[in-house]
Parts: sequence; C-alpha cells; structure tokens
Amino acid sequence: MENKKAVAFLDLRRQYQSVRKDIDAAVKNVLSSGRYVLGKEVDAFEDEFSRYCGSRFGIGVASGTEALYLALLACGIKAGDEVITVPNAGIPSTVAIELTGAVPVFTDVDPATYNIDPARIEKAITRKTKAIIPVHLYGQCADMDAVRKIAFKRGLKIIEDACQAHGASYKGRRAGSMGDAGCFSFYPTKNLGCYGDGGLIVTSDKRLAEKMRMLRDYGQAKRYVHEYKGINSRLDEIQAAILRVKLKYLDSYNRKRAEIAETYGSMINNRLIDKPEAAPYGKHVFHLYVVTCRQRERLRGHLMRNGVESLVHYPATVYLQKAYSSLKGRNSCPVSEVLSNRVLSLPLYPEMEQGEIELVSRTINKFRV
Ligand SMILES: *Cc1c(COP(=O)(O)O)cnc(C)c1O
Repeated sequence: MENKKAVAFLDLRRQYQSVRKDIDAAVKNVLSSGRYVLGKEVDAFEDEFSRYCGSRFGIGVASGTEALYLALLACGIKAGDEVITVPNAGIPSTVAIELTGAVPVFTDVDPATYNIDPARIEKAITRKTKAIIPVHLYGQCADMDAVRKIAFKRGLKIIEDACQAHGASYKGRRAGSMGDAGCFSFYPTKNLGCYGDGGLIVTSDKRLAEKMRMLRDYGQAKRYVHEYKGINSRLDEIQAAILRVKLKYLDSYNRKRAEIAETYGSMINNRLIDKPEAAPYGKHVFHLYVVTCRQRERLRGHLMRNGVESLVHYPATVYLQKAYSSLKGRNSCPVSEVLSNRVLSLPLYPEMEQGEIELVSRTINKFRV
C-alpha cells in the first residue's frame, strides 16, 4: 500500500516561490541581453563567490564533477599518477580522478565525522601519489590542518571537494579556500543550487586560475589559440544570474539548516538512533542530516509507512560498485562499509515547516524493533 507523503525529503518549489520575483527578473534580463555563455553574470558571480569563500579567483564550470576534473588537470595530474580520496561520498571524486587517467586510492573515514581520517592517509601514499581530494561530506569540513600537514610534508596537491559544503568553515576558514583548489557544485539540491547543472572552482593561485580558465574553454589562451588540451565546461549566464540572487541568502539558508539540525538534536531521543555530531573545529552547514541506525532498512520502512521520506547517502562503498570493482582490494575501508549499511538522511532544507520537523522527530522516536 502506498502511503500519502506527509513530509517530502526536499521540495525545491518552496525556495523558488520565496525568491521568485528576483529570479524571474534576473533570468529575463539575461534572455534579453543576447549573451548566454561566459558573460558578465558569470564574471560577477565568479568574483562574488570566490570572495565569499575567501579565495582570490573563481572559475565557473559546468558541474561539480568537472570542477574536480579540471582542478586535477590544472595541477598536472595524469595517467600513471595516484590520487587519494574517500569511498563513502558517492562517485564524483572517483570519476574525476579516472578521467585524468590517474588511479583513485581510497582512505577510510573517521567514524565520528564521516570525513577522511588523516591518521590513515600516510599508509595510502606511494611514490606515484600526487594529490589528495578530501570531501567535506554532509556539510562539515574534513580535518584540514591534519590533511595539509601531510600534503605539505609529502609534496601533494590538495583539491577540496566542497560540493556539499558551501559556506562551511574550519577554524575560521571557508570550505574551498584551504587547498590548492576548491570545487563546488550548484546542482539544484545543494546548499547553493541553480536551476540546472553548474559548478565552480576557487583558488588563490594565479597560475592555476589562468590554466583552469583556459581548460574549461577548449584550452584556449585566446580564440583559436590552444595552449592546452581542454574541454568545453562552461557556466551559462542564466545559471550565474540565478546564483547571484541566491548567494545573498546562502548564510540565512545555512542558519536555517543549523536551526533545524538543532531541533532534531533536541527532539530525537531514540536509543536505536545515533545523531550526527558537529566537530568543534568548524561550522557545519548540514547539507544533509544523517543519522545512523543498525536497523536502517527497518527504520526507513517505518518512516515511509508514516509518510516520511528519507534517502541513503550512500548505499554502497565506491569500490563495491560493479563499475569500480577493479579498485577493490588495494585498501579496504571497513568504517565506510559499515556506514553504508547504517546511514540514513532525514528531510532537512531551509523552507521546512516546524510541524514537519516535529512530525519527523516524533515518528523517529516511535521506532521500535
Ligand atoms: C554533488 C556532488 C558532486 C558533483 O557535483 P555535480 O554538479 O553533480 O557533478 C561532487 N561531490 C560531492 C560530494 C557531491 O555531493
């Protein structure tokens, strides 16, 4: 029997309704401008978002995955190299590494923060290792001082996957600004989302910025002068205009997310469920509110029967996916494997209503095995 949905995991229409006038005006303005790709909206957004992150340069691209790919390329990563990342954060960082021809090498995560465990990084480093991609998962930064210390000592590049961490911070520094490059996605469900696909790389390294700017546009230094082998990965004017409107609200959206997380934290009290903890070193922006439960599938069924939608981020460790089975065996990541069976994401987005938040909490509290 299909139950009526009382609480959707996410309803993006609510945010659109709340900023509709400004968004519609921004889109119309681009439509009548006659300039649709890489124009003044993109320039302005690159400037505003990189400044927001505390980085010197911003390079708009077509998606978060391509932001990672182009950042790796710009750092000189190529076939035969190895790049360290985590296997519990979905496949984009793995996809980006493989696109360069390099080999992804997995490091397990910290069971408290779900982020890369710095204590395990050194063991994964070989002569071929050239870079680390820490993923700031669920809206919380990885322990970047520890990551940076290792990278500095071993001469490795750091490319931050900040696709779930717009506005998150670590010891006062914004996600994306702590490595050689920081990569963002503006997929509609992200903390800052557009109405299509989009992405951006921030960096404070002028040479890297210039190279990435060329790489996203066929490697051109100027028209038909190809300095590098690049691709077509450009942010369009409509998405940039939409993002400029929404960037003004990002901090208030993130505050709202933190408030909802706090309400869940105080209302949910079921001994079968572990709630997420924010590490004291930074600001968590709760892209996702992820609980863990040993009886995850039963909990999910209970929520569904009571009209509460939930999702799993992510149900399989990357190297256990069929397409990536060749990556299995190098380093097993038992913490990631256990988490993939226990994590459950509850509805959390800035426009959620108090009644919905309370209903989710009460439903969770009624769960028994
Ligand atoms: C969304 C996401 C990406 C990829 O972004 P796309 O724009 O969908 O390509 C990369 N890494 C993480 C952790 C993400 O959540």
